[in-house]
Amino acid sequence: MIKQFDTYSLLPHNTFGIEAKAAHFVEFTSVADICNFLGNGFNGKSLVVGGGSNLLFVNDFNGTVFHSAITDIEVVAETDSDILLRVGSGMNWDELVAYTVEKGWCGLENLSLIPGEVGASAVQNVGAYGVEAGDLIETVETIRIADAVVCSFTKSDCDFAYRHSIFKAAEKGRHIVTYVTYRLKKAVDFKLSYGNLKDKVEEFGGATLANVRRAVCEIREAKLPNPEQIGSAGSFFMNPVVAAHKAAKLKDEYPAMPQYPLACGDVKLSAGWLIEQCGWKQTPHKNVGVYKHQALVVVNLGGATGSDVLDFALAVVASVKEKFDVNLNMEVNVID
Ligand SMILES: Cc1cc2nc3c(=O)[nH]c(=O)nc-3n(C[C@H](O)[C@H](O)[C@H](O)COP(=O)(O)OP(=O)(O)OC[C@H]3O[C@@H](n4cnc5c(N)ncnc54)[C@H](O)[C@@H]3O)c2cc1C
Repeated sequence: MIKQFDTYSLLPHNTFGIEAKAAHFVEFTSVADICNFLGNGFNGKSLVVGGGSNLLFVNDFNGTVFHSAITDIEVVAETDSDILLRVGSGMNWDELVAYTVEKGWCGLENLSLIPGEVGASAVQNVGAYGVEAGDLIETVETIRIADAVVCSFTKSDCDFAYRHSIFKAAEKGRHIVTYVTYRLKKAVDFKLSYGNLKDKVEEFGGATLANVRRAVCEIREAKLPNPEQIGSAGSFFMNPVVAAHKAAKLKDEYPAMPQYPLACGDVKLSAGWLIEQCGWKQTPHKNVGVYKHQALVVVNLGGATGSDVLDFALAVVASVKEKFDVNLNMEVNVID
């Protein structure tokens, strides 16, 4: 089934709570439907949205917004150790995680409670608590928007890296993800070394899939705003990576600065710490600020426009550059 709307409000399709309109909005429930639609001569400006939890609309979108409502889920192969699970791109991400935990399949539990849908997990390579979706993705099926051709990308085609995939680079804006297949494990292999996850799991009685999910949910709920109550897109900025000599100089000047050496020799810095040092927790601007428990999260304090949020974010970037000479890049997809 295809549903089509004109002059369509995107308010329910972005967690920032920004009012913006799409000239056209198209939602589909099957590959055949979207292929027919695109194959019938579609050649306009387009944008694909999932749950809108990583988007900032700065203006109305003068084109067609596509949304997948493909939500079926199927075990396509099973061995003694592995499950290959093919999932429709419109399925809610956390519902998928809850489903796999209930089934006793290991892999996605650390990614509990990340907002959004399955399609974007592959585009964004979502990650949390030491796990990234790309670690578990086997294939990504898409429709190429320009010619309605069905495509399939293997894990290595996807070129996954930190919050990065080929769908944010060479293939950006060219595909609608329709299905993602994940390789999950029947035997447990918990990743608990990140932050205080292990302690929290112990508090709940030890490492089981359900306890890991519960612990991740509890830690996230204490640290991150609930999109149903406070508008945000999660981490607005990526953690910057600097050369080792630059990190050493910064450490001399700011001994308390958290630094995380990477295997390549560069050093990752905490964007949240840098932003906090610039005083942004105390300085909201108009109706935009940073979240009280996590300065990396920019929040809509009520009634902000996309431009208000962008102006605030650019002021944050400028202040970090001025104080530390470090460039912050935005993780959020700004739609102008
Ligand atoms: C409170 C909060 C906490 C968050 N925590 C995390 C976290 O811990 N880790 C993390 O990685 N992210 C986190 N995020 C960011 C966000 O949840 C993820 O980026 C998520 O994957 C976005 O999913 P979505 O369906 O909402 O995608 P959208 O925001 O709608 O879209 C994101 C991008 O994916 C593209 N896209 C979406 N669906 C499709 C599709 N079917 N086909 C092709 N392209 C598509 C869009 O064009 C856009 O470029 C958080 C966000 C919030 C609000």
